[in-house]
Amino acid sequence: SLFRNAQFEISVAKPNGLPPPNGPEVAFAGRSNAGKSSAINTLCDHVRLAFVSKTPGRTQLINFFRLRNGAVLVDLPGYGYAEVPEAVRLQWQGLLEDYLTTRPNLVGLVLIMDSRHPLKDRDRVMLGWFAPSGRPIHVLLTKSDKLTRTVQATTLAAVRKELAPLGAQVTVQLFSSLKKTGIEEAEQVVGSWLAT
Ligand code: GDP
Repeated sequence: SLFRNAQFEISVAKPNGLPPPNGPEVAFAGRSNAGKSSAINTLCDHVRLAFVSKTPGRTQLINFFRLRNGAVLVDLPGYGYAEVPEAVRLQWQGLLEDYLTTRPNLVGLVLIMDSRHPLKDRDRVMLGWFAPSGRPIHVLLTKSDKLTRTVQATTLAAVRKELAPLGAQVTVQLFSSLKKTGIEEAEQVVGSWLAT
């Protein structure tokens, strides 16, 4: 599968420390505690590739992982954690905006949202930065195991409807790292971004 045996390459803390573009990149972004690290570990079938934090807001780095097909998985810092000082928040925000709007080899964005709290303000900010590129965005509604089947279906439909104005470049699915559901769908979508 696409994500298996991903290899850690480098962590960077500053936009000007980004490694030179080398292979197509797929970035993972999301609010702190949305389940991004768990989703990356689940997709990569790796217990501790991305660091699952006990302290929300702790990850301040951009982590780069090399996939077996030469593409790069980029784990962006989680955003939206209330207790982060304003100056730090602005620094992360600048780093995210800079990366999402200027990275030439970024082929698509996987946006992680807790299925119980989708489309928060900062998620919309991320969409606003990246959607104008015309490149694809795939939304993973994580922790879907916490919702009943009925609420899963209504949430999926509601988020799809809200994002429909952005067009076909945006896709949405349910995902659970706990139950390991949604893995094949995510692999298929991201894999299609990398197929030449
Ligand atoms: P991140 O801050 O976005 O990287 O989030 P983490 O991956 O560290 O997860 C935040 C918390 O949510 C942790 O306590 C995880 O165990 C929990 N979590 C993550 N994914 C799932 C999931 O699919 N289902 C459930 N029930 N809990 C999850």
